[in-house]
Amino acid sequence: MAIVDSHVHLMPPRLARAIRRFFEQHIGDQLVYPAEIETVLDRHEADGVAAVWNLPYAHKPGMADDLNAGMAEVSAAFADHTIDVVNGCTIHPDDPAPGDTVIRAHEQHGARVLKLHCSVGNYDADDVRLDPVYEAAGTVNMPIVVHVGHDVTGHTHDHELQTIDTAAGRHGDTTMIVAHCGHYGHAETLELMTKHANLWADLTPVVFERPALTATDFEQFGDRLLLGTDAPNVGLTLASHLEWLRDLGLDDGTLAGVLGENADRLVPR
Ligand SMILES: [Zn+2]
Repeated sequence: MAIVDSHVHLMPPRLARAIRRFFEQHIGDQLVYPAEIETVLDRHEADGVAAVWNLPYAHKPGMADDLNAGMAEVSAAFADHTIDVVNGCTIHPDDPAPGDTVIRAHEQHGARVLKLHCSVGNYDADDVRLDPVYEAAGTVNMPIVVHVGHDVTGHTHDHELQTIDTAAGRHGDTTMIVAHCGHYGHAETLELMTKHANLWADLTPVVFERPALTATDFEQFGDRLLLGTDAPNVGLTLASHLEWLRDLGLDDGTLAGVLGENADRLVPR
């Protein structure tokens, strides 16, 4: 069964070091993956992973183009690895023409997934400046992973999910994936998924906390849920997620979907 980790951050070296320092200050020595990309990929390979979606994010305007180019370099540097490093891109809404940035990343750097990080970039998912971004991504069939919440801890609170409700309603032809299943707001996220067919969610933990989905949730939404780890800056291993999913007793089709087939539908390999 091919596994796809649809949420990793294997960033270009300088940015990777800055992010790592932030997490070391906040989480200390409980990070379960080393910072080195090759080691993360090797461990994922041992766990049966076939592909990772590599997601960058921009904390200020003017940096997305360089970062998107840097992400393509990371993919190229590990082109020989058995794991397919799917190239992600990002924008900041204060960039001059962020919709064009998405198209450029797709055409010039082969980006296949877009990441929006509302807390890091200090904006909301329903910001009108993102309208051309959602449209551009929809045009090139690029799914968008959206970290909706603003909490510095990485949590999303119930009321914040209104913003993705608005965005998903406005851009019905664009696939949006709520990162961390909106944890703490996982129930609200699932509720919104009943309303919007273009809304998906990933199961990425917030450091140590998995979104608390039940087997019934998986029966209902299993065809729009994606496995994710947040490697390397996270407190839970991929192996622990696999154990959790297997212990839920899901049927084979649902499990295969969540582990990788759903991701492959969005970004065919
Ligand atoms: Zn993340």
